[in-house]
Amino acid sequence: MFEMLNIRIRQGSQYIPDVKKAVLNQMHRGFPVLNADKVDSSFTADSVCPSGAITREPFAIDMGKCVFCGDCAGACKNNEIKFTSFHKLGADSREKLVIKYGDTPGEYEKNAVVCRKEIKRIFGRSLKFRQVSAGGCNGCEMELNACTNVNFDMARFGIDFTASPRHADGLVITGPITKNMAFAVEETYNAIAEPKIIIACGACAVSGGIFAGSNAVDREFFAAHGVDLYVPGCPPHPLTFINGILKLIGR
Ligand code: SF4
Repeated sequence: MFEMLNIRIRQGSQYIPDVKKAVLNQMHRGFPVLNADKVDSSFTADSVCPSGAITREPFAIDMGKCVFCGDCAGACKNNEIKFTSFHKLGADSREKLVIKYGDTPGEYEKNAVVCRKEIKRIFGRSLKFRQVSAGGCNGCEMELNACTNVNFDMARFGIDFTASPRHADGLVITGPITKNMAFAVEETYNAIAEPKIIIACGACAVSGGIFAGSNAVDREFFAAHGVDLYVPGCPPHPLTFINGILKLIGR
């Protein structure tokens, strides 16, 4: 008994009481801040980017492509790119994921996800997902799994994963959608009753990531059905995923 109490005192509470207010460790690489409106020929950080996420004109970083390796920040001679630990990166459109000079985490958080009335009304109190790993590396899948553990406890909001698409309200896709998985993704989507929502989780799902343009990838599904929430990251932090959905359903 005393030993158990001792352990509890030493470890403290493992559960995050308020996922909306949680702040991540400074080591976490999140929202990138650009410290220049344009770059000159001395800027070479875009050449080290493995996913082509940096553009020069205009100078911007596409978080939908970024794998948050941090190589660009390391290659900046004049501190043009700096990563913050801000993790609420989910957005309801691809355009919003493109970060430019002057963009701040606070402004981004306010505008990135607009709660749609019909989603709030239908899914605001209960939202179940079927998850499909469509060529993912298991990084995103592991973080999604962590969303439901005692630490993050996404189910406290009525948000959870189901084994069957017949019991789901939406589809969470990880991975770039390889040709071999394209049919399975489509079939899973078809098995979910209307109305339903689609979430693209992780750089691969959002943009193809480092596999964008590969012959082995088939992204027709996204073109045909659209996406309600993009969750960037490689992989996204569980709090990025949870906060994105909470904003989407107006909680
Ligand atoms: S952190 Fe993102 S933008 Fe920078 S080099 Fe890595 S993938 Fe490219």
